[in-house]
Order: sequence, then structure tokens, then C-alpha cells
Amino acid sequence: MTIQNEILAQIKKYDTIVIHRHKRPDPDAYGSQCGLAEILRASFPNKKIYQVGENVASLNWIATPNEIADEVYQNALVIVTDTANTPRVDDERYTTGKYLIKIDHHPNDDVYGDICWVNTEASSCSEIIVDLYNSLAKELVLPSRAAAMLYAGIVGDTGRFMYSATTPHTLRIAAQLVELGIDAPLINRKLDGITESVARLSAYVLQNMVVTKHNAAYIVLNRDVMETFKLGDSGTSQIVPLVGKLENVVCWTVFVQQKDQSYRLRIRSKGPVINELAKEYKGGGHPLASGAVLASADGIDDYINKLDALAATADSAAI
Ligand code: AMP
Repeated sequence: MTIQNEILAQIKKYDTIVIHRHKRPDPDAYGSQCGLAEILRASFPNKKIYQVGENVASLNWIATPNEIADEVYQNALVIVTDTANTPRVDDERYTTGKYLIKIDHHPNDDVYGDICWVNTEASSCSEIIVDLYNSLAKELVLPSRAAAMLYAGIVGDTGRFMYSATTPHTLRIAAQLVELGIDAPLINRKLDGITESVARLSAYVLQNMVVTKHNAAYIVLNRDVMETFKLGDSGTSQIVPLVGKLENVVCWTVFVQQKDQSYRLRIRSKGPVINELAKEYKGGGHPLASGAVLASADGIDDYINKLDALAATADSAAI
């Protein structure tokens, strides 16, 4: 039996299915979670399907989460999408169902669930959900509402098909979703548009970022800056790719100071693998897109020296 058929067999067994995703969600977290939920609602109209997690207003155009009581989990199948590690699962109740399935595309450092389906070759978890549908198409329905959510997830995680995880298969899947009649230009605009606060923060970042000797770059966003631009932690996601737009920059980090004075590090690379460095700093992620944590500003210089050393290993022809 293929893993897709094993997953379908479990879906068929349960009347209630609760789908989770990761904390601090991005379009792929929302897209894979809610796109799967819509496929299951359309395919099994008699089952109760829920999508849970924090309600992030800036992603409400993709979908909105459901609020459910603890009892719902009693005889439920729980599916977690796009979430590498258990501490990152949004809503701790994911452990209280009857059966657990993990579907993800991040490195499988934390193997959890009764079924664990991880494909690190996929551009996004949304792509894997379309793969799931395609291998079970005789038994599942893919409504255009789900297609729009999954397309948003793929476009979000590939940076509009710019990152190397974009394969011919990714583009075929995107074409398949567009063929279902979704408004792709509108979704692209939603993903690309920025608020006035983000526009002004972008100007600040370009003005104040530092580029090191070997072309690592960084910007430190302290609380006062975040308050000046009236932005919370999630408002920084759109300025992360900005630093990498500089042609010479090889890898980069955006430091976002938290209320407890610690820093969340958003790390990206065009070549050198940065997730091992992230792991040294209580983080992890993909080879070219990771996150980590620094307890205070004291560690920034040390960290930047390590990032600069990684940048020095880059093959300049490939950047
Ligand atoms: P972000 O900068 O938050 O968009 O994160 C980029 C990628 O790094 C995500 O897809 C996550 O897989 C990963 N990541 C971020 N923060 C952490 C963390 N603290 N621990 C492990 N992985 C992380």
C-alpha cells in the first residue's frame, strides 16, 4: 500500500478530522492546512472537518481558522501540515486525537505521528497536498476554492517561483491549479502587496543593513524600530527577501527583537547551507531558509562572524 493510500484509509475511518499547522503561519501553512480541509469537505460531505490555530488577520483572505471544543478530539483523526517539529505545532491539542498524521516538506528532524509523510524535494507542503490529491483523484474532489489556497501556498513558499525548490513538477502543479479557474493574478497581487508600514520599514532596512567582507548581510530590528513602524513580529516577513535582492549578497539574517529582548533570527541563503548554523542557535529549517533564536544582543557579533565565514565558501558563479 502506498503512503497516500494509507492516509486515505485513515481519513475514511474517522467522522471527525482536525487539521493543524505551524505557529506564526505563512501562506503555505494556511494553504496546505485549509486546502486539504477543503478537499476533504468536498470529498466527504458527511464528515466534520476542522482547521485550527491562531487567527492571523493578514492571512484571512486565504481562510479563517475554526474554534473547536476539546471534546471534538475524542474520536478524531488529527493531521498536521507544514510543521517540522512538535514544539512548532499551533494548538497543543494535536496530541489528544485518536490517530496522528504528519505531512511536511521540511527536513524530517523530528519524526512524529502514526503516519509521517515527508518529501523534502517538494517546493511547499501545498505541493504535497496536490500530489496527495493526484494520486487519489478517483476518490477525492479538488474544488477551485482549495486550488486557490494551495496555489497561494506554493507561490508563497517559492517566493513567486524564484527559489531553487521550484521544479518542473512545481510548475506543472501550479498550472493544474490555474486550470481549475482560480484568479491567479489576484492571489499574486495579494501575496506581493505591502502596507504603508511595511513600505516604510523596507526603506529603513535598505538604508541600514550591513554587508560584511564576504557578502553576508544583516539588519537588526530592535523594539524601538518595530514600534516606530507600528509592526509586530509577523510584519517583518515581507522584508526578509528584500536584503537578498542585493546582487552581491550571498546569505543574510534579519534579527527581530522580541518583547523579552531576545531575537528571532530569519536566515536566508542563495547557496551556502545555513540550517546547520541555525541548529547551533536553537533553530533549524531548510538548507536555504531557516530560523533561530538569540537570547540577547551579546551574541550578534559572534553569529555574524559565522555567517560571514559561510558566505566566504560560496561559489560566486552560482549566486
Ligand atoms: P521564517 O524566517 O520564520 O520564515 O523561517 C524560515 C524557516 O525556518 C521555516 O520554514 C521553518 O522551517 C524554519 N524555522 C524558523 N524558526 C525556527 C525554529 N526556531 N526552529 C526550527 N526551525 C525554524
